[in-house]
Amino acid sequence: SETLERHAFGAEVGRLLDLVVHALYSEREIFLRELVANAADAVDRRRFAALTEAAPALPPDAKVRILPDKAARTLTLSDPGIGMAKDELAQNLGTIARSGTRAFSQSLADAKPDERPSLIGQFGVGFYSAFMVADRVEVTSRRAGTEEAWTWASEGQGEYTLAPAARAEPGTDVVLHMKADADEYLEPLRIETIVRKWADHITVPIALLRDGEEVSGNQGTALWRRPKSEITEDEYTAFYRHVGHAFDKPWATLHWRAEGQLEFTALLFVPGMKPFLAVEEERESKVRLHVRRMFITDAAGLLPSWLRFVQGVVDTEDLPLNVSREMLQATPVLARIRRAVTAKVLSELKSRAKDAESYATFWQAFGPVLKEGLWEDAEHRQDIAGLLRFRSSAVEGLTSLADYVSRMKPGQAAIYILVGDDVEALKASAQIEGFRARGLEVLLLSDHVDAFWPERLDSHDGKPIRSITQGADDLSAFEPETAQGDAPADLTALLPALKEALKDDVSDVRVSQRLVDSAVLLSAPAGGPDLQMQRLMRRAGR
Ligand code: ADP
Ligand code: MG
Repeated sequence: SETLERHAFGAEVGRLLDLVVHALYSEREIFLRELVANAADAVDRRRFAALTEAAPALPPDAKVRILPDKAARTLTLSDPGIGMAKDELAQNLGTIARSGTRAFSQSLADAKPDERPSLIGQFGVGFYSAFMVADRVEVTSRRAGTEEAWTWASEGQGEYTLAPAARAEPGTDVVLHMKADADEYLEPLRIETIVRKWADHITVPIALLRDGEEVSGNQGTALWRRPKSEITEDEYTAFYRHVGHAFDKPWATLHWRAEGQLEFTALLFVPGMKPFLAVEEERESKVRLHVRRMFITDAAGLLPSWLRFVQGVVDTEDLPLNVSREMLQATPVLARIRRAVTAKVLSELKSRAKDAESYATFWQAFGPVLKEGLWEDAEHRQDIAGLLRFRSSAVEGLTSLADYVSRMKPGQAAIYILVGDDVEALKASAQIEGFRARGLEVLLLSDHVDAFWPERLDSHDGKPIRSITQGADDLSAFEPETAQGDAPADLTALLPALKEALKDDVSDVRVSQRLVDSAVLLSAPAGGPDLQMQRLMRRAGR
């Protein structure tokens, strides 16, 4: 037709399509999970939009419909959701918004085969999985609050078209023209099995057309509302994978109901491993807020950002269903829920920390994120301090501040730390020679955030935390435990000569008790930034 517009895909989409279609071929059925998830998201978003932006209300019987048509060889997913305007079709289905193809393909290469399907969810490229089973995809959509409808269509080969269309109600139809070898996905029973497997936790009803009749595809039960005793570990895991776009098992599952002043149910998970998409990139907690089962938003900041790796749902009775965006920002209810939920997660971490081996896996994955709280959250600083684990110059594995303090030598006034980029390099550093020789333990810190937080958490259990690269040392109270070589040479002539030669570069040259095998080391002034901080500042060009 004359109004048909042709567009090339954004540069990265072509390559991405290729990746998705080939890398995930053995897991083709997940296309249905992704399309159903998109449809359910769209319904949730329309419900929220109707509250916050004068979009028309969602019909009360709103559901996602799946319609297989064997004769036409099409599979259609139809939803009464928010819909997409013309520019949104082009933007959402024609470009890659969030993460680049390179990050995605690198993660695909790193992932084990059974981990791959979850990646497309994590990277927000689920829609393209439709091309695993279809050689042509048509998306007809009408944005809620507008009259126009448009059809986006593509064969997944470098371009897509946009053409005006008609749709009686807001929402979206995704029509898949199935590939010759994808017959199985036109069988209602096969579809039903997949939907039950993947979509049982979606609270929007899903209806499947089977023999001319609509059958329910999902139970739509809110798992978190069921009693703990009736939920199996497998059900918890399946739900975790659904909300967290994950493939592993949760390291911790917290399911509780708060009653009394504040009424809410929470089902939260600490992942078993670090997600591929670095948690460093996302800043805000994505824990989902529901009001009386109904999904409201995943941007309510239900946990502080230093707990943003926690996934799950909080469902409350204490907010009205028609809560608006403004109300969400202003209501004290959310602040109280946030405090309660944060305290619960911290106490769970504290109790799980007793199992050192298991806690080490958690610490390795999320310790660096947790430490951000030391810097930015004065209220929880002491709680977090108890959860910290460190590598050490004196012991294998990980140690806590409390364990360190219990090993401190009589007369030792400070907790010694050495911060750098790499623990092995720190272990070999000249900076710790003198401490090691005297049996003084030094904590070795090598996470990015370690340069910063000691400025805020500057003591523990009454003991100051001190970077050993900072200030003058006084180790004279401690006798070296290992035999020293030659008696100290007389340096009275050398010192002034060195001072003169280096006068433009250093402020002082001193004899140091810290050295055993090495001849010299660099030290930072007592008041200013320590050596690692100076290094970071130089790297940042300051
Ligand atoms: P993600 O869902 O992770 O954002 P997808 O590739 O699955 O990534 O979808 C891309 C975007 O396309 C979605 O974020 C959404 O804005 C839009 N979209 C996809 N399907 C629908 C739909 N049925 N209704 C409305 N918008 C949709
Ligand atoms: Mg999606």
